[in-house]
Amino acid sequence: MKLIADLHTHTIASGHAYGTIRENAAAAKEAGLEILGITEHGPGIPGAPDLIYFRNLEAVPRYLSGVRVLLGCEMNILNDGTVDLTEKELERIDFGIAGIHRFCFTDQGKEKNTDSVISAMKYEKVKIISHPDDDHTPLDYDRLTDAAKEYHTALELNNSSLRKPQNRWNCEENYRVMLRYCMEKRVPVIIDSDAHDPSQVADQALAIRFAEECGLDEELVLNTDRKRLLEFLNIPDKK
Ligand SMILES: [Zn+2]
Ligand SMILES: [Zn+2]
Repeated sequence: MKLIADLHTHTIASGHAYGTIRENAAAAKEAGLEILGITEHGPGIPGAPDLIYFRNLEAVPRYLSGVRVLLGCEMNILNDGTVDLTEKELERIDFGIAGIHRFCFTDQGKEKNTDSVISAMKYEKVKIISHPDDDHTPLDYDRLTDAAKEYHTALELNNSSLRKPQNRWNCEENYRVMLRYCMEKRVPVIIDSDAHDPSQVADQALAIRFAEECGLDEELVLNTDRKRLLEFLNIPDKK
């Protein structure tokens, strides 16, 4: 499986990542990617940028090192099912990722956790749910995949989670269950690095191997095809 994009990467703006947008783009170019997502954490994470960062993204060129750059945000899903950007920032980002981070979310059991994630899927800009894999905040994968299908949201297979599964309870088993439902219901999947350093950009190899072992077909993996990916994100292709 060959990927053409890595949509989930962080830079120094996130407060606990170590490269710049340009360094991430150069790393993406070096790895042969066509499209790079820059998705800083939403303001609920300590050290993450303030809302004004996301309002000013028009300042950034959408091509760097010859790579198409998409500027988004990895928003925090809050217990009430909202996210930590307002409509004003949601309008300005190219696409949104939403995920549970325990700085901003308290485990309320599988069903309520799943309700919160499903509510976040209803925002038009939320196109991806990041790392739905950790039993610190368990999820109901049958309901999650039904909702992903209904609300046109992709579920992420996160390479960083697979690199340090000791931090993510039952991560591998949860992904096996999730991918089985995705294949059965034809729910799109995206494979991302979740890089926090330029050296990790495009580091998707573990996740690719895992997907292949699970028998996931390429047509379900959004970032194997430029046209399919951009159409899914509702972003026009400008070469
Ligand atoms: Zn982070
Ligand atoms: Zn992330």
